[in-house]
Order: sequence, then C-alpha cells, then structure tokens
Amino acid sequence: MQINFIKKNNASNSVKSSSNANAKATKINLKIHLITKELLKKNNLPNLKIAQNSLDFEAKFLQSAILANKDSVEIFLGCGDEKKIDNNSLNKIGARILMLANGTKYSEIEVLNHFNDEAKNIANLAFGALLQSYRFNKYFEKKKKDKEVKVEELNFVTSDEKSAQKIFAELEILAKNIFFVRDLVSEPSNILNPESYAEICKKIKVKGLEIEVLGEVEMKKLGMGSLLGVGQGSDKKSHLVILKWHGGKKGEQPLAFVGKGVTFDTGGISIKPSANMEDMKTDMAGSAVVVGLLKNLAERNAKINAVGVIGLVENMPSGTAQRPGDVVRSMSGQTIEVINTDAEGRLVLADALHYTNTKFKPKLIVDLATLTGAIIVALADIYAGLFSNDDSLSKNLEESGQKTGERVWRLPLGDEYDEMINSDIADMKNVGSGRGAGSITAAQFLQRFVGDTKWAHLDIAGVAWKGKGDALAHKGATGFGVRLLDELVRKYEK
Ligand SMILES: [Zn+2]
Repeated sequence: MQINFIKKNNASNSVKSSSNANAKATKINLKIHLITKELLKKNNLPNLKIAQNSLDFEAKFLQSAILANKDSVEIFLGCGDEKKIDNNSLNKIGARILMLANGTKYSEIEVLNHFNDEAKNIANLAFGALLQSYRFNKYFEKKKKDKEVKVEELNFVTSDEKSAQKIFAELEILAKNIFFVRDLVSEPSNILNPESYAEICKKIKVKGLEIEVLGEVEMKKLGMGSLLGVGQGSDKKSHLVILKWHGGKKGEQPLAFVGKGVTFDTGGISIKPSANMEDMKTDMAGSAVVVGLLKNLAERNAKINAVGVIGLVENMPSGTAQRPGDVVRSMSGQTIEVINTDAEGRLVLADALHYTNTKFKPKLIVDLATLTGAIIVALADIYAGLFSNDDSLSKNLEESGQKTGERVWRLPLGDEYDEMINSDIADMKNVGSGRGAGSITAAQFLQRFVGDTKWAHLDIAGVAWKGKGDALAHKGATGFGVRLLDELVRKYEK
C-alpha cells in the first residue's frame, strides 16, 4: 500500500482528471471526510446534512456514515471532540480509515481532514493506517488474495505535504520495525528456533549496528548454567545475541534492553496442558521487541548508546531435559532450585541480565518478557505489567506508555515477596511459595540479577498477542514495546 500526501488544491477530482485524463486519474472517487463534533455543528459540507439527518451521524469517535452517489462514494468518519484528539486517537482514526476503505472496491482513496491540518496530525493519521495494513500472510497458498489489503493508494490531503512527508518518514521506519517484530512473533516454531533466530539476527545489516552471537560453548565458559539448563532438552542449540548501537558520545553508559526469547515453551518436564499450547510460539516476543528496537534506533540514527541482549532457547521435554528439583548455578554465582521447568523465562533472563549488567555497566536496564500467565489475570491485554527498583525510570516508562498508547501499570516489589522465592537447598527457587503474586515473585527473581543498576521489568504476556485484534493491529502479534521503548529512549537522547 502506498501512502501519499497531496497538496490541498491539487487534490480534487477535477484537477487530477483534467491534468491527466486517463482511467487512473478518475479512479479516486472514494473520499473519506474526517469530522469532529464541533465541525458537525458548523456543517458546511454538502452531503454531511444528509449523513446527519438521515443516517444519524453524530461525529462520535470512529462512527461512520457512508453515502453513495452516482459515480462516487463519500464516507464521513467521526473524530469525536476536537480537544480530545491526540496522537493516539489520530492513529486509531487512521487505522479506521484503512478498515473502511478496505471494505470497498476502491483501490485509491482520498482522505480529507477538515478540522486540523497540522503536518504532525496528518502524519499520525497515516501512521495509524500503515500499522493497520500489516498482515501475516506468507503461509496462505489458496486464500492469500482474500487476506491481502486491497487498498493500493491512500492519499492524505494537506496544505503542507512536505512537512507531513518528513514527519511520516520517521514513523514509517518505526512501523517497519514493528512489522519486523510481528513477523518474528507470528512465525511458527518449526521455522523459528534458537538457531534460525540467531541466523536472522546475524543477517540484519544496518549501518553502525553491531551484532554478536554467543553459542553454547561460549555461554558455558561464562558460567551461564541457568540459561543453558532451559535449552538442554532441545535439539536446537541455545544462543545469546548481543546488539550494540553507538549513536551517543564515546564512553557514555548505554541504555540496555534484555529480552526473553523462548522460541517454543512446552513447559518442559512440567509440561503444559495441550489446550492453546500453540500460542507458546510467541514466548519469544520480548526478544523480538529488543531486536526491533535496536534496529529502529540504528535506522533513525538515535543519538544514544544502546545495547540489546536476548537469550534464545527452546524449552522441550526429553531425555536430556532438566528436571524439577534440579539445582543450577547462574553466571552470577547464585544457585537456583528449579521447582517448575515451566518457569523457564526467568532462568533465561537471570543470566542475560547478569551478563548485561556486568559486561556493559549500563545506565539502566529494561527487560521484556512474556513471563507469567498471572499478569494476564491481572491486566488482560490492555496494560503491560511494570516492576522497577527506580521511581524515575518507572515514571518515564509510564509517560512513554501514555504518549504511545502502549501502556504500563506498575505493580509492587518488596522484601515479603522476595522471601517467597527462598529455597531450602539453594539460594533461591524459580517459583514463589503459595499461589499468589506469581508475576511479582517472578520479578523479584529477576531483581536478584541486576545489582543496584536502575532496572525495570515489563511483563508483556498479555499484550504481545491479541486474540481479537484492535484498531491498530489485526488479531495476532502486536509488536507491543517498540513504540514504548523508542519513546523512552528519546527521553535520554541529547
Ligand atoms: Zn514456561
């Protein structure tokens, strides 16, 4: 799908068709008008009266009315109260534009924003439409055509097409990296495993982005018994991938991002029930966000030093798999009693976090993981769970969440929760005593591997995948976290 920004006075059909009287020029005859409640009161557009009086169009947010004329169709799309409109609502309106357009047979569409022509607003409409256009289609042979986006050209009419295009260019990079993440998360686990995933990472070629891959031999040397224990039941070799971006001053401490990359989680010997086990291909979503984020920072030439570290393993039951009751030694030297082999994400992160903290001495660490089912019970697929040892980092994440619509909700940490993971035979165990606070005890576990470094953990088990889909993403992988963390990074950029 092509997104264009066209100058206001070049936009109407008459100009387009008179300058170029071929069939293509007359194809644009679907117009989508964006109407706020304030605008509806003034109501000076032809046909809007009909929409208002006959179709009960009140310009409520995302309400639409369709009017067909002899040789054209007009859609009025409600934008609600003008003063409530922000980037998030513009994204949602943009996404709705594409959904409406895609429900027609028109392949070229003209969008007229009647309330605010600012370039930033137009670019954000286009960004929403672009995010909505994502499909994971590669495995359809027969039905592929029905699944594709039919719209070929979306034309946003504006008085300042150059500025809109300029702002959109950066958003387009962001969208492509969100799609990169969605692709990885959607990929089935017979295709994406720790080995093929590491290969995909190696092939990323962005100027200035350094990529290093550690195999099992190197990790063993580093003493990563916690991570390696998780992957030992699988035929596929575990990997640690490190991505480095130097866009800031030389010697400046980097921001670090760490991701859980369990390419399939059967639960191991503590095997999961079969219902919905197929969803466990998404248990690497945190790692995908880290890769997408670092790629995005490099592609937009962020003025910051950043490092991404992802632990890639497959959690399988087999004759070599780790057992409940096993004790493993992490790179930090702390020992862990593995009570439940399905609580494997924290075992992977334990070594990845310690490695990141001691090797790079970062300014702060944010980790992302589809870590616990308990976070879905608490927050569904609306908010990611946030846990942190630092109030200012938390605040920055919460603000970035509000701004981007990828929202986070902070949950507590504390000594009483920390005690719940004490073990009888090792320094800690990998699940908490009792049934409660499963997401918090998981976070307490991670906290034991970050030292005094400012750290935040995002439990994205609920938000990484949408069973229903929403305005901005078709059902499936969301790419949640790329926008949030890109926004966070901007707060630290000079
Ligand atoms: Zn698990």
